[in-house]
Amino acid sequence: MMPEILPGHFWQANSYLVGNTLIDAGIDPERILPYKDQIKNIVLTHGHFDHTVSANRIAELTNADIYIGEFDLPFLTDSSLSLSTHFGSPQIPIKAKPLKDGDVIDGFTVYHTPGHTGGSICLFREEDGVLIAGDTIFPGGSYGRYDFPTSSFEDLRNSVSRMAELAVESLWSGHGDPVPAGAKAHVMMSERNLF
Ligand SMILES: [Zn+2]
Repeated sequence: MMPEILPGHFWQANSYLVGNTLIDAGIDPERILPYKDQIKNIVLTHGHFDHTVSANRIAELTNADIYIGEFDLPFLTDSSLSLSTHFGSPQIPIKAKPLKDGDVIDGFTVYHTPGHTGGSICLFREEDGVLIAGDTIFPGGSYGRYDFPTSSFEDLRNSVSRMAELAVESLWSGHGDPVPAGAKAHVMMSERNLF
């Protein structure tokens, strides 16, 4: 089953619904109402405000648990890390459980992919090559910004290289349109552009 995209509007990030998991929570909470009973987990690809702003409200509506890469936990209580002030809001604290590299959640393996932020994660499902890449990799050979608090160009390179080794079929990034097939070429292009 392919992820269902809930595209973000304006500065909002895309959210994806796959299995019992909502990935990222930047969208208006009302948009998940049709899937209310399906969502058991909310996984945040990283701690930036445009990906997390509705997490608390969606968790209330669904009773789901919120997860984030272990090293981005501090973002959920810190406006200067989450960039919330840049989006005109203080950071409302979010309670989340940490995910570690190698954890498996709802059929997806967690990859710690620092670079865009120190605790960014990608989610990969081996059986059909679905890669959910947050703001680490974008289609067309693009990749995430690395000029934010805890960002690192060196880490981003290594993270994208690691993803380029996977048998990626489709790519679902935090912004823009997904690549539903043949996405490994996109990931390899991102890697080439970083070296
Ligand atoms: Zn981001």
